[in-house]
Amino acid sequence: MSTNKYDIIVVGGGIVGLATAYKLSLKVPNKTILVLEKEQEVAAHQTGHNSGVIHSGIYYKPGSYKAVKCVEGRRELVQFVKRSQHRSRYLWENYCRYPRK
Ligand SMILES: Cc1cc2nc3c(=O)[nH]c(=O)nc-3n(C[C@H](O)[C@H](O)[C@H](O)COP(=O)(O)OP(=O)(O)OC[C@H]3O[C@@H](n4cnc5c(N)ncnc54)[C@H](O)[C@@H]3O)c2cc1C
Repeated sequence: MSTNKYDIIVVGGGIVGLATAYKLSLKVPNKTILVLEKEQEVAAHQTGHNSGVIHSGIYYKPGSYKAVKCVEGRRELVQFVKRSQHRSRYLWENYCRYPRK
């Protein structure tokens, strides 16, 4: 185990941990962030084994926190994938390119 020190440590490399670390890196770029993942790779559990749907939020009460965050999240995810196509080819091909193949 390295003896390096970090300002922020996020435990768990699923979508929640990775998204949290990513957002923190934008918000406090001068801080060092470490993501600890117990498996050999990230997204080894639920994140890598879900239905692969980017939810639209249409089934939430209009204007509710869930609905607003769902729509914002979808928009942000599409932008994120567009900016990093080379790393997220699967997402780009299946969810963000219109019309879908
Ligand atoms: C059947 C099913 C289908 C779904 N389909 C969709 C869908 O289509 N679209 C959608 O948006 N959502 C979907 N979801 C929900 C979505 O998959 C989950 O909400 C999301 O993946 C949860 O992410 P997470 O980061 O909280 O958990 P996880 O992906 O489980 O990540 C937690 C990580 O923490 C690590 N960890 C745990 N303990 C430790 C420790 N002590 N030290 C270090 N690391 C640790 C684990 O190894 C794991 O990698 C679905 C859920 C299910 C059950």
